[in-house]
Amino acid sequence: MMKVLVTGISGRMGQAVQQAVAQNPGTELGATHDVGQDVVAALAQADVAVDFSFHGFTAELLAAAVAQGKPVVIGTTGHTAEEKAAIAQAAQSIPVVFASNFSVGVNTLFWLTRKATRILKQYDIEIVEMHHHHKLDAPSGTARTLAEVVCEETGMDYEKDVMHGREGLVGARPQRQIGMHSLRGGDVVGDHTVIYATDGERVELTHKASSRMTFAAGAVRAALWLADKPAGLYNMQDVLGFTD
Ligand code: NAD
Repeated sequence: MMKVLVTGISGRMGQAVQQAVAQNPGTELGATHDVGQDVVAALAQADVAVDFSFHGFTAELLAAAVAQGKPVVIGTTGHTAEEKAAIAQAAQSIPVVFASNFSVGVNTLFWLTRKATRILKQYDIEIVEMHHHHKLDAPSGTARTLAEVVCEETGMDYEKDVMHGREGLVGARPQRQIGMHSLRGGDVVGDHTVIYATDGERVELTHKASSRMTFAAGAVRAALWLADKPAGLYNMQDVLGFTD
């Protein structure tokens, strides 16, 4: 049985991960953590950490994981460039799965977006996401990953070519642009749509999550997958074997 440390235990995802750990026959709860508690002591009681908390906490968790040589699954989003670099640095010593989304459906959407963008790269590409009104970061980590996939396939640059919302006399839409739109409201768990539009037609790829358990179960699957992996930075596509 793999013992799991669940961080952000009072949060929406922490609660879902605790449930997924209990439901998976290969895992059991080793320890829990939340604000103000000692993560070093908590991690000592576990074989792996699954983290859905706050981006500013990741460095502290990784320092403990590197010191104890334990793998980490990071589902938290909203990291700065420096925080992402620190994750990559830690992954040189321990195995880390870092994914903006752990659902099989969304990872299929990432795959489909890559394929569709290869064919439709001349179309106007826009991304729309909607989440519950408690969500802190925008755009969502998943929407950001979708835009990064589009950038990889078109040669666009995330920092230069993503247009976050539009207001006022912004002028005609340049072709070299990805429109990004974040809607917030109610209890929406997570909707993402990638739109490819041209004269005469439009393609829309949509995923809608209706339960956090889809993310939580995927994160626990990632934790089990990490057990025999060497140090390195992995994503959910690696866990699911989407190599193409
Ligand atoms: P939440 O606000 O319900 O819970 C956050 C938890 O983290 C709380 O228990 C809070 O006390 C704790 N926390 C906050 N600051 C902390 C700190 N400095 N140190 C330690 N713990 C701290 O949020 P949520 O909806 O559960 O989402 C948590 C994170 O997971 C967010 O970044 C969200 O975007 C991300 N998320 C990722 C996926 C995915 O599939 N990768 C899916 C859903 C949510």
